[in-house]
Amino acid sequence: MPEHDPGPTVDVPRDAALPGVATSSVSWVDDETREVLHLIAEGITELVGFGVAAISIARGDEFEVVAVAGSESAREQLLGSRSKIEILLVELARADDWGMFKFIPHDRLGNDMTTWGWVPDVEPIDAPDAWHPLDMLVAPLHDQDGALRGLVAIDLPTDGLRPSQSQRRLLNKYAAQTGRAILVSLEREVLTEQLETARAARNAVRDASAELTLSTLLDECQPALVRGFRARGMWIQTFGEDGAGNQGAIHSNGGFDVAVPPALVSIAERAAGAAWRAQRVDLVSRRHRVGTEITEAETNLILSFLEGIGIGSILFVPIGSGQECLGNFVLTRGLHDPAWTRASTDVALDVGHDLGRAIVNARAYEREQQLVRELQALDSYKSQLIATVSHELKTPITAIQGNLELLEQTLEEIDPDARQGLDAIDRGARRLVRVVEDLLLLAKVGDPGNPLIPSPVDLRPIVDDVRELTAVAAQRRDLTVVVEAPPDPVVAIGDSGELDRVVNNLVSNAVKYTPEGRTIRVTLHREADEIVLSCIDEGIGISPTDQTRLFDEFFRSTNPQALAQPGTGLGLTIVDRIVARHGGRIEVESELGAGSTFRVRLPASG
Ligand code: ADP
Repeated sequence: MPEHDPGPTVDVPRDAALPGVATSSVSWVDDETREVLHLIAEGITELVGFGVAAISIARGDEFEVVAVAGSESAREQLLGSRSKIEILLVELARADDWGMFKFIPHDRLGNDMTTWGWVPDVEPIDAPDAWHPLDMLVAPLHDQDGALRGLVAIDLPTDGLRPSQSQRRLLNKYAAQTGRAILVSLEREVLTEQLETARAARNAVRDASAELTLSTLLDECQPALVRGFRARGMWIQTFGEDGAGNQGAIHSNGGFDVAVPPALVSIAERAAGAAWRAQRVDLVSRRHRVGTEITEAETNLILSFLEGIGIGSILFVPIGSGQECLGNFVLTRGLHDPAWTRASTDVALDVGHDLGRAIVNARAYEREQQLVRELQALDSYKSQLIATVSHELKTPITAIQGNLELLEQTLEEIDPDARQGLDAIDRGARRLVRVVEDLLLLAKVGDPGNPLIPSPVDLRPIVDDVRELTAVAAQRRDLTVVVEAPPDPVVAIGDSGELDRVVNNLVSNAVKYTPEGRTIRVTLHREADEIVLSCIDEGIGISPTDQTRLFDEFFRSTNPQALAQPGTGLGLTIVDRIVARHGGRIEVESELGAGSTFRVRLPASG
């Protein structure tokens, strides 16, 4: 039997229509090729003198007739029809060798060839070398590797005779030409397909990379892949956890719901791992089995599942990134669809890589989002907890302070020891009040459930108010507080109460941590789109180590000079939170013993 390349094939079911009868409307030969092949077929009929010439292209284990010249009825019946290559090969074994053409006289035909092609309705003429309607004259066309790629079949000689020597020479010339034309067209078909699939794959991945969640990514790229690979449908299986914590998930393209049985899901997982390691794509059909990692029984399970949903063949493509196999995608074709070409399998593997990268990105994004959600929930919980505890503390503190006052009023004479004790209780209670107030504010500005309601805020009156409020404390320490602000409003966007807190905390700190007799400057101005508020003191300064922790909750410096002042360690944390939720930032410059500058930048209004 002459060798032919079965190539990747499409299965034909046992109950398929008789060979030679069109079984599918899918045909991929482009118009240009069709035209060329038709001209060649016409040349044969007109110049060599035949009623019909048909040119077929090998598709898997079938021939598909793509050009017919001559009789209109033959054209109608033959164009697009398919026939089993195997049947022809059996006949060819009995043929006379006329060079490229092979001749099988009707009395040597083994099969009932009426089912194989078109049989002219003519009576043989009365001559010794008369042409019989069932005589077969065909030229199998092979490529350089000896693979069978096409077939020229001619019938119905106009003179009613079997071809003479000179006709045979002419025929052989045409056969050689046809062979070249077919190879060129097949080559072009492969290139076109490669281009289309590559483009589709690129598009799919480009579209996909704009998609940030895994399921939208997969939904988005499926239609492009199905189109690009000329598949009937597809599904994608991902392994490991998806963003929602699901173990492995099947994403099938719209309109074609697959319920892949669990047994197959685990087989697929194993097969995908092996395919990814080997960097190969598996073609699965009745003729092509998955690699050795899958047993015969498992293969049958796969095939009967596929046949059950009307699928003849699949491309099983691993998805991965680096060493890791992340899943697989399956492209399906129907029982009568054309075979997968080498080009599609190559591009499919590339798509497996592209999808792998996209999946890794999407998962990273989903993990990040999840983390953000968790942190927000935690923040919210923390804020609520702080708020609740602080509220609970308020009542007992009020009771302590109230009773203290009562004691002072009712006791006529307090002995000095008791006096000291009462003073300590009073100091402690005051400190507690400060802590509780700061905690409540911190909880409020740190709660994602309590968003900022921004409005334009002129900072000049706020700064003036703060200077007045701190005037007593400043005077007590003989400090000069200078405000430098422009005559026109300096308007930021935010919450005036919260911004007041920022200025207040910064100026109070400057007053607390600056030795007597020095000056504190508060400056305010606009710089492009920002309002800049600076609080500059000539105080004790902050060490570089302390500067890194200034905004941490409850942080107080280890510097004894700083510790001598009362404080909760929450003031700057509150400032930082408020500035951040206003979309601003805070900068610190400080030198121990020389002074500190706190600079707040806020988005300006207008
Ligand atoms: P508190 O002042 O209540 O201790 P803050 O959060 O306002 O808490 O400040 C944290 C620490 O930063 C202070 O304990 C102090 O050591 C240091 N600090 C803040 N402002 C200044 C300043 N202007 N000069 C020197 N040290 C400062």
